[in-house]
Amino acid sequence: MNDVSAMTGACLCGACELTAVPQADHAGVCHCGQCNKWSGGMFIGLYCGNTITFKDGSPVKTYRGSAWGERLFCGECGSTLVWQTQDGQNQTASVHLFDDPSAFAVTQEIFIDRKPSAYALAGNLSQMTEAEVFAKYAPSPEDG
Ligand SMILES: [Zn+2]
Ligand SMILES: [Zn+2]
Repeated sequence: MNDVSAMTGACLCGACELTAVPQADHAGVCHCGQCNKWSGGMFIGLYCGNTITFKDGSPVKTYRGSAWGERLFCGECGSTLVWQTQDGQNQTASVHLFDDPSAFAVTQEIFIDRKPSAYALAGNLSQMTEAEVFAKYAPSPEDG
């Protein structure tokens, strides 16, 4: 990957400000049902390891949608912020928080078998099914 340094980002209303050091130079889409509800669209995530830090006073709220994952959102404007494991060690930020989302090419789709059939991404992206994702990452077969 390219040498990616710390980036700053913010939610829609600006109340939540964060810094993060992306751990990848590409972004991925999750088509799971929880991400669709939570983000209001396709969640396009940028893996940041455990490097995300919110500015003191940011009104971050947490929704625990499964036994191992949790979703952070702005308590003021509702913006989708970060999906993370509950230990905070694996954080994936919404690419739209950052000033230039185009800096990260979208190269992967996960939960491809959960994608609504009404739309599809163009291009030759790598794809993983729900079963493949859980086989690779998850401690238990629950929706992330
Ligand atoms: Zn906000
Ligand atoms: Zn998802």
